[in-house]
Amino acid sequence: MVVELRASKHTGKRRRIMAGMRPTGRMHIGHLLGALNNFISLSDGNDCFYEIADLHALTTKFERSAEIAGDVREMVTDWLAAGLDPAKCTIYLQSHIPEISEMTVLLSMITPVSWLERVPTYKDQINALGSEIATHGFLGYPVLQTVDIAAFKGEGVPVGQDQLPHLELCREIVRRFNHLYGPVLVEPEAILSETPYVPGTDGRKMSKSYDNALLLADDDATTLAKIKTMFTDPEKIRKSDPGHPETCPVFFFHGIVNPSNADSIAHRCRAGQLGCVENKADMAAHFNRFLAPIRERRRKLEERPGDVDEIIADGTKKARTIAQATLAQVKAAMGLM
Ligand code: SF4
Repeated sequence: MVVELRASKHTGKRRRIMAGMRPTGRMHIGHLLGALNNFISLSDGNDCFYEIADLHALTTKFERSAEIAGDVREMVTDWLAAGLDPAKCTIYLQSHIPEISEMTVLLSMITPVSWLERVPTYKDQINALGSEIATHGFLGYPVLQTVDIAAFKGEGVPVGQDQLPHLELCREIVRRFNHLYGPVLVEPEAILSETPYVPGTDGRKMSKSYDNALLLADDDATTLAKIKTMFTDPEKIRKSDPGHPETCPVFFFHGIVNPSNADSIAHRCRAGQLGCVENKADMAAHFNRFLAPIRERRRKLEERPGDVDEIIADGTKKARTIAQATLAQVKAAMGLM
Protein backbone atom coordinates (compact mmCIF):
# COMPACT_ATOMS: atom_id res chain seq x y z
CA MET A 1 0.00 0.00 0.00
CA VAL A 2 1.39 3.39 -0.96
CA VAL A 3 0.32 6.47 0.94
CA GLU A 4 0.75 10.22 1.05
CA LEU A 5 2.53 11.72 4.02
CA ARG A 6 0.05 12.93 6.58
CA ALA A 7 -0.54 13.02 10.31
CA SER A 8 -0.51 9.66 12.05
CA LYS A 9 -3.89 7.99 12.06
CA HIS A 10 -2.89 6.23 15.31
CA THR A 11 -1.91 9.23 17.37
CA GLY A 12 -2.88 12.32 15.37
CA LYS A 13 0.72 13.48 15.90
CA ARG A 14 3.53 13.65 13.39
CA ARG A 15 3.78 10.49 11.36
CA ARG A 16 6.39 7.99 12.55
CA ILE A 17 8.76 7.19 9.69
CA MET A 18 11.37 4.45 9.90
CA ALA A 19 14.25 3.92 7.48
CA GLY A 20 17.71 2.47 7.72
CA MET A 21 20.93 1.83 5.86
CA ARG A 22 23.57 -0.83 6.16
CA PRO A 23 26.86 0.81 7.10
CA THR A 24 29.08 0.51 4.06
CA GLY A 25 31.55 3.26 4.93
CA ARG A 26 31.84 6.44 2.91
CA MET A 27 28.78 7.33 0.85
CA HIS A 28 28.74 8.16 -2.83
CA ILE A 29 26.70 10.64 -4.85
CA GLY A 30 24.21 7.84 -5.69
CA HIS A 31 23.43 7.45 -1.97
CA LEU A 32 22.91 11.21 -1.69
CA LEU A 33 20.53 11.41 -4.66
CA GLY A 34 18.76 8.10 -3.98
CA ALA A 35 18.24 8.04 -0.22
CA LEU A 36 19.98 10.69 1.84
CA ASN A 37 18.20 13.69 0.33
CA ASN A 38 14.94 11.84 0.97
CA PHE A 39 15.91 11.24 4.62
CA ILE A 40 16.63 14.95 5.00
CA SER A 41 13.34 16.13 3.47
CA LEU A 42 11.26 13.58 5.43
CA SER A 43 12.80 14.89 8.67
CA ASP A 44 10.78 18.06 8.21
CA GLY A 45 7.30 17.48 9.59
CA ASN A 46 7.64 13.77 10.45
CA ASP A 47 8.91 11.82 13.44
CA CYS A 48 11.80 10.07 11.71
CA PHE A 49 13.89 7.19 13.02
CA TYR A 50 17.00 6.42 10.99
CA GLU A 51 18.72 3.17 11.79
CA ILE A 52 22.37 2.33 11.28
CA ALA A 53 21.72 -1.30 10.39
CA ASP A 54 24.99 -2.87 11.54
CA LEU A 55 23.39 -6.25 12.31
CA HIS A 56 22.22 -6.39 8.70
CA ALA A 57 25.81 -5.65 7.61
CA LEU A 58 26.84 -8.87 9.37
CA THR A 59 24.70 -10.98 7.05
CA THR A 60 27.17 -10.46 4.22
CA LYS A 61 30.23 -9.21 6.12
CA PHE A 62 30.48 -11.63 9.05
CA GLU A 63 34.03 -12.56 8.10
CA ARG A 64 35.14 -8.91 8.21
CA SER A 65 33.03 -7.80 11.16
CA ALA A 66 35.87 -5.72 12.62
CA GLU A 67 35.45 -3.26 9.72
CA ILE A 68 31.83 -2.45 10.58
CA ALA A 69 32.51 0.00 13.45
CA GLY A 70 34.64 2.17 11.15
CA ASP A 71 32.02 1.93 8.41
CA VAL A 72 29.38 3.16 10.88
CA ARG A 73 31.36 6.30 11.73
CA GLU A 74 32.15 7.06 8.10
CA MET A 75 28.54 6.63 7.03
CA VAL A 76 27.05 8.73 9.81
CA THR A 77 29.67 11.45 9.21
CA ASP A 78 28.39 11.60 5.62
CA TRP A 79 24.74 11.63 6.78
CA LEU A 80 25.46 14.65 8.96
CA ALA A 81 27.68 16.36 6.40
CA ALA A 82 24.94 15.97 3.80
CA GLY A 83 22.57 17.88 6.07
CA LEU A 84 20.73 15.31 8.19
CA ASP A 85 19.94 17.21 11.38
CA PRO A 86 19.95 15.09 14.57
CA ALA A 87 17.71 17.72 16.18
CA LYS A 88 14.99 16.81 13.66
CA CYS A 89 15.33 13.01 13.62
CA THR A 90 16.61 10.09 15.70
CA ILE A 91 19.80 8.40 14.49
CA TYR A 92 20.49 5.11 16.28
CA LEU A 93 22.68 2.01 16.16
CA GLN A 94 20.78 -1.22 15.68
CA SER A 95 23.18 -3.50 17.58
CA HIS A 96 23.07 -1.27 20.67
CA ILE A 97 19.36 -1.91 21.09
CA PRO A 98 19.27 -5.54 22.32
CA GLU A 99 15.45 -5.44 22.36
CA ILE A 100 15.58 -5.56 18.54
CA SER A 101 17.44 -8.87 18.65
CA GLU A 102 15.12 -10.28 21.33
CA MET A 103 12.02 -9.29 19.44
CA THR A 104 13.50 -10.85 16.29
CA VAL A 105 13.67 -14.21 18.09
CA LEU A 106 10.02 -13.87 19.11
CA LEU A 107 8.78 -12.91 15.64
CA SER A 108 10.90 -15.59 14.00
CA MET A 109 8.82 -18.17 15.90
CA ILE A 110 5.71 -17.16 13.96
CA THR A 111 7.31 -16.63 10.53
CA PRO A 112 7.05 -19.61 8.16
CA VAL A 113 10.33 -20.49 6.44
CA SER A 114 8.46 -20.61 3.11
CA TRP A 115 7.70 -16.86 3.43
CA LEU A 116 11.42 -16.14 3.80
CA GLU A 117 12.50 -18.40 0.95
CA ARG A 118 10.21 -16.65 -1.51
CA VAL A 119 11.79 -13.21 -0.96
CA PRO A 120 13.01 -12.30 -4.47
CA THR A 121 16.48 -11.15 -3.39
CA TYR A 122 17.21 -14.27 -1.33
CA LYS A 123 18.21 -16.52 -4.22
CA ASP A 124 19.51 -13.61 -6.33
CA GLN A 125 21.96 -12.59 -3.61
CA ILE A 126 23.16 -16.15 -3.05
CA ASN A 127 23.72 -16.49 -6.80
CA ALA A 128 25.59 -13.17 -6.86
CA LEU A 129 27.63 -13.49 -3.67
CA GLY A 130 28.03 -17.25 -3.27
CA SER A 131 26.51 -19.94 -1.05
CA GLU A 132 28.70 -18.97 1.92
CA ILE A 133 26.24 -16.16 2.70
CA ALA A 134 23.35 -18.64 2.92
CA THR A 135 23.29 -18.56 6.73
CA HIS A 136 20.39 -18.76 9.15
CA GLY A 137 20.81 -15.01 9.73
CA PHE A 138 20.69 -14.23 6.02
CA LEU A 139 17.53 -16.26 5.47
CA GLY A 140 15.96 -14.59 8.51
CA TYR A 141 16.96 -11.01 7.73
CA PRO A 142 13.40 -10.05 6.67
CA VAL A 143 12.30 -10.86 10.24
CA LEU A 144 15.00 -8.54 11.58
CA GLN A 145 13.87 -5.95 9.04
CA THR A 146 10.29 -6.33 10.27
CA VAL A 147 11.40 -5.75 13.85
CA ASP A 148 13.43 -2.70 12.78
CA ILE A 149 10.12 -1.13 11.83
CA ALA A 150 7.73 -2.79 14.30
CA ALA A 151 9.86 -2.10 17.41
CA PHE A 152 9.38 1.62 16.76
CA LYS A 153 5.80 1.31 15.54
CA GLY A 154 6.88 2.79 12.23
CA GLU A 155 3.83 3.87 10.22
CA GLY A 156 5.58 4.88 7.01
CA VAL A 157 8.66 3.43 5.35
CA PRO A 158 10.30 5.14 2.35
CA VAL A 159 10.97 2.41 -0.21
CA GLY A 160 11.76 2.07 -3.88
CA GLN A 161 9.56 -0.04 -6.14
CA ASP A 162 12.00 -2.97 -5.86
CA GLN A 163 11.69 -3.05 -2.06
CA LEU A 164 7.90 -3.32 -1.98
CA PRO A 165 7.95 -7.16 -1.65
CA HIS A 166 10.09 -6.83 1.49
CA LEU A 167 7.66 -4.39 3.03
CA GLU A 168 4.73 -6.60 2.10
CA LEU A 169 6.38 -9.50 3.93
CA CYS A 170 6.89 -7.26 6.94
CA ARG A 171 3.19 -6.37 6.85
CA GLU A 172 2.27 -10.07 6.67
CA ILE A 173 4.39 -10.90 9.72
CA VAL A 174 2.83 -8.01 11.67
CA ARG A 175 -0.68 -9.13 10.65
CA ARG A 176 0.08 -12.68 11.74
CA PHE A 177 1.33 -11.48 15.11
CA ASN A 178 -1.69 -9.26 15.67
CA HIS A 179 -4.02 -12.09 14.60
CA LEU A 180 -2.40 -14.53 17.05
CA TYR A 181 -1.89 -12.26 20.05
CA GLY A 182 -3.95 -9.10 19.61
CA PRO A 183 -3.43 -5.70 17.99
CA VAL A 184 -0.06 -4.69 19.39
CA LEU A 185 2.03 -3.95 16.29
CA VAL A 186 1.48 -1.31 13.61
CA GLU A 187 1.22 -2.39 9.98
CA PRO A 188 3.61 -0.07 8.14
CA GLU A 189 2.71 1.57 4.84
CA ALA A 190 5.03 2.30 1.93
CA ILE A 191 6.05 5.81 1.07
CA LEU A 192 7.08 5.16 -2.49
CA SER A 193 10.15 7.19 -3.32
CA GLU A 194 11.76 7.72 -6.68
CA THR A 195 15.21 6.20 -6.78
CA PRO A 196 17.07 7.72 -9.72
CA TYR A 197 19.42 5.49 -11.68
CA VAL A 198 22.79 7.04 -10.96
CA PRO A 199 25.54 5.86 -13.30
CA GLY A 200 29.05 5.17 -12.09
CA THR A 201 32.24 6.16 -13.87
CA ASP A 202 32.08 2.99 -16.01
CA GLY A 203 28.45 3.57 -17.06
CA ARG A 204 27.07 0.76 -14.85
CA LYS A 205 24.94 1.60 -11.82
CA MET A 206 27.08 3.41 -9.25
CA SER A 207 28.24 1.00 -6.58
CA LYS A 208 31.31 0.75 -4.38
CA SER A 209 31.50 -2.95 -5.21
CA TYR A 210 32.00 -2.03 -8.90
CA ASP A 211 34.74 0.47 -7.96
CA ASN A 212 32.99 3.12 -10.06
CA ALA A 213 31.78 5.49 -7.33
CA LEU A 214 32.23 9.22 -6.87
CA LEU A 215 32.43 9.59 -3.09
CA LEU A 216 31.08 12.59 -1.21
CA ALA A 217 34.36 12.59 0.76
CA ASP A 218 36.69 12.49 -2.25
CA ASP A 219 38.86 15.59 -2.61
CA ASP A 220 38.66 17.78 -5.70
CA ALA A 221 41.72 16.22 -7.39
CA THR A 222 40.46 12.66 -6.86
CA THR A 223 37.05 13.62 -8.23
CA LEU A 224 38.61 15.21 -11.31
CA ALA A 225 40.82 12.16 -11.89
CA LYS A 226 37.83 9.81 -11.65
CA ILE A 227 35.68 11.96 -13.96
CA LYS A 228 38.51 12.11 -16.51
CA THR A 229 38.22 8.31 -16.87
CA MET A 230 34.41 8.39 -17.05
CA PHE A 231 32.62 6.41 -19.71
CA THR A 232 31.09 8.60 -22.47
CA ASP A 233 29.23 8.07 -25.73
CA PRO A 234 31.42 5.46 -27.51
CA GLU A 235 30.34 6.84 -30.91
CA LYS A 236 31.88 10.23 -30.17
CA ILE A 237 35.58 9.72 -30.87
CA ARG A 238 36.46 13.26 -32.03
CA LYS A 239 35.05 16.60 -30.94
CA SER A 240 33.36 17.01 -34.33
CA ASP A 241 31.49 13.68 -34.07
CA PRO A 242 27.80 14.15 -33.19
CA GLY A 243 27.25 12.79 -29.65
CA HIS A 244 24.32 11.28 -27.74
CA PRO A 245 24.26 13.06 -24.38
CA GLU A 246 21.21 11.13 -23.21
CA THR A 247 23.38 7.99 -22.96
CA CYS A 248 26.38 9.73 -21.40
CA PRO A 249 27.06 9.64 -17.61
CA VAL A 250 28.98 12.93 -17.83
CA PHE A 251 25.85 14.60 -19.17
CA PHE A 252 23.71 12.93 -16.47
CA PHE A 253 25.80 14.67 -13.81
CA HIS A 254 25.61 18.02 -15.62
CA GLY A 255 21.85 17.69 -15.07
CA ILE A 256 22.46 17.39 -11.31
CA VAL A 257 25.33 19.78 -10.66
CA ASN A 258 25.03 22.22 -13.56
CA PRO A 259 21.36 22.12 -14.62
CA SER A 260 21.17 25.66 -16.03
CA ASN A 261 23.73 24.78 -18.73
CA ALA A 262 22.48 21.26 -19.52
CA ASP A 263 20.44 22.25 -22.60
CA SER A 264 23.30 24.13 -24.21
CA ILE A 265 25.75 21.27 -23.45
CA ALA A 266 23.39 18.74 -25.04
CA HIS A 267 23.04 20.95 -28.10
CA ARG A 268 26.79 21.45 -28.56
CA CYS A 269 27.49 17.73 -27.95
CA ARG A 270 24.97 16.71 -30.63
CA ALA A 271 26.24 19.37 -33.04
CA GLY A 272 29.87 18.21 -32.75
CA GLN A 273 30.88 21.51 -31.13
CA LEU A 274 31.93 20.11 -27.74
CA GLY A 275 34.73 17.67 -26.94
CA CYS A 276 34.50 15.08 -24.17
CA VAL A 277 37.80 16.07 -22.53
CA GLU A 278 36.71 19.70 -22.20
CA ASN A 279 33.21 18.72 -21.05
CA LYS A 280 34.50 16.33 -18.38
CA ALA A 281 36.76 19.02 -16.89
CA ASP A 282 33.81 21.44 -16.85
CA MET A 283 31.52 18.89 -15.17
CA ALA A 284 34.19 18.01 -12.57
CA ALA A 285 34.52 21.70 -11.63
CA HIS A 286 30.75 22.00 -11.16
CA PHE A 287 30.64 18.66 -9.30
CA ASN A 288 33.29 19.82 -6.84
CA ARG A 289 31.49 23.15 -6.31
CA PHE A 290 28.21 21.27 -5.73
CA LEU A 291 29.78 19.09 -3.02
CA ALA A 292 31.95 21.82 -1.45
CA PRO A 293 29.52 22.62 1.42
CA ILE A 294 29.14 18.91 2.26
CA ARG A 295 32.90 18.40 2.18
CA GLU A 296 33.45 21.43 4.39
CA ARG A 297 30.96 20.13 6.97
CA ARG A 298 32.65 16.71 6.78
CA ARG A 299 36.04 18.27 7.42
CA LYS A 300 34.72 19.96 10.56
CA LEU A 301 33.08 16.74 11.77
CA GLU A 302 36.34 14.83 11.23
CA GLU A 303 38.08 17.31 13.54
CA ARG A 304 35.65 16.31 16.32
CA PRO A 305 34.96 12.57 15.90
CA GLY A 306 33.53 12.43 19.43
CA ASP A 307 30.56 14.51 18.23
CA VAL A 308 29.47 11.78 15.81
CA ASP A 309 29.71 9.11 18.53
CA GLU A 310 27.70 11.34 20.87
CA ILE A 311 24.94 11.89 18.31
CA ILE A 312 24.70 8.11 17.77
CA ALA A 313 24.68 7.44 21.54
CA ASP A 314 21.97 10.06 22.23
CA GLY A 315 19.75 8.80 19.42
CA THR A 316 20.24 5.17 20.46
CA LYS A 317 19.24 5.97 24.05
CA LYS A 318 16.03 7.61 22.87
CA ALA A 319 15.21 4.83 20.40
CA ARG A 320 15.92 2.11 22.96
CA THR A 321 13.25 3.45 25.32
CA ILE A 322 10.66 2.98 22.58
CA ALA A 323 11.90 -0.50 21.65
CA GLN A 324 11.81 -1.53 25.31
CA ALA A 325 8.16 -0.47 25.61
CA THR A 326 7.20 -2.31 22.43
CA LEU A 327 9.01 -5.48 23.50
CA ALA A 328 7.23 -5.41 26.86
CA GLN A 329 3.88 -5.16 25.04
CA VAL A 330 4.85 -8.00 22.70
CA LYS A 331 5.86 -10.30 25.56
CA ALA A 332 2.74 -9.47 27.55
CA ALA A 333 0.53 -10.16 24.51
CA MET A 334 2.27 -13.51 24.03
CA GLY A 335 1.74 -14.35 27.68
CA LEU A 336 5.45 -14.67 28.47
CA MET A 337 6.47 -14.20 32.10
S1 SF4 B 1 30.63 15.89 -25.19
FE1 SF4 B 1 30.05 15.63 -23.07
S2 SF4 B 1 27.92 14.92 -23.12
FE2 SF4 B 1 28.78 14.65 -25.19
S3 SF4 B 1 29.49 12.51 -25.17
FE3 SF4 B 1 31.25 13.81 -24.64
S4 SF4 B 1 31.23 13.84 -22.38
FE4 SF4 B 1 29.25 13.11 -23.06
